[in-house]
Amino acid sequence: TDSPLRRPIRELPDELISQIAAGEVVERPASVVRELVDNALDAGSTQITVRLLGGGVRLIAVEDDGIGIPKDELAQALKRHATSKISSLAELEAVGTMGFRGEALAAIASVAEVSLLSRTGDAPHAWLLDARSGELSPGARQRGTTVEVRELFYATPARRKFLKSDTTELAHCVEAVRRHALARPDVGFAIWHEGKLVAQWRASLVARGEDALEATRARLADVLGDDFVTEAVTLQWPADGSLARGLRVRGFAGVPDAARSRADQQFAYVNGRYVRDKVIGHAARAAYEDVLHGHRQPVYALYIDIDPARVDVNVHPTKIEVRFRDSREVHQAVQQAVQSALAVPRAGQALAALP
Ligand code: ADP
Ligand code: MG
Repeated sequence: TDSPLRRPIRELPDELISQIAAGEVVERPASVVRELVDNALDAGSTQITVRLLGGGVRLIAVEDDGIGIPKDELAQALKRHATSKISSLAELEAVGTMGFRGEALAAIASVAEVSLLSRTGDAPHAWLLDARSGELSPGARQRGTTVEVRELFYATPARRKFLKSDTTELAHCVEAVRRHALARPDVGFAIWHEGKLVAQWRASLVARGEDALEATRARLADVLGDDFVTEAVTLQWPADGSLARGLRVRGFAGVPDAARSRADQQFAYVNGRYVRDKVIGHAARAAYEDVLHGHRQPVYALYIDIDPARVDVNVHPTKIEVRFRDSREVHQAVQQAVQSALAVPRAGQALAALP
């Protein structure tokens, strides 16, 4: 008989597989923003514009000036597990791009109305693909890609109900862009909501490389306010800033006086990727142990560069977690970097007295 305990095993339909995957990747508009900005950065963009309506629920449009997607690959970009970024296990283990799972666009298209408008450098004009209908038509834009995502969770009202007010969802979207912006001072970002400019951070003219830290400092001031950098010390480990050991920690750590009641200005990046990592968080905390009292939260922006073979970024679909092969080594480097920076008084000013 037809017992609910014994139903035939069947392969799930593609659409449902994508919707299940979307559950992991797309929690709210900000998750879509993050994935689309990741893609824009992977495409080598120098200017990324995010336009939102209704906190991102009604519309998220991300416009870039990257390499674009060729006409005959537009449909492919929306398929599950379809990516141009890796093609082998060896490439996965050395991955340097933000994306590599080939999941995001497929997942987003399964829970929203998606269109891609893109033009490559050698194409005479752009092409527009409507994900739902599969219709491909000529379009107009300069080189680059615009992804539009409309009516997020329109088909899954249960999920849509979990969304907060437009204001809250907008704040999360801005935060998602901010995290990218702090890692890429060489890229310009703009965010619009309901036709109004919410935030704009201009690309630094300083080339990446030796002056990257200076450009980062300027971007931090731009995004977080001047106080963040005037009340922070520069840190670098090893002291010569070399990557010879396959591990380097650079960034800015706020002086103890700059600590806040909330942990809302603690940014950590691993190979340019924003992460929330226990090892890094614990190491930073440990570095402040003797100079911060009570529940004061330090502010910092830490940029860790590590040999890709020594870190696994394929831990979680959202890639916000990483796993270090040798987490003790990373812990020590971060703690030392922060501690020794805090021990050096700023120019003309003694560090806050110890309690
Ligand atoms: P992933 O980023 O993991 O490869 P996505 O689903 O996010 O997977 O994107 C699928 C593919 O579509 C990418 O590998 C890339 O080739 C292409 N793509 C997506 N967004 C862009 C963009 N903004 N510019 C150029 N190519 C893009
Ligand atoms: Mg991607």
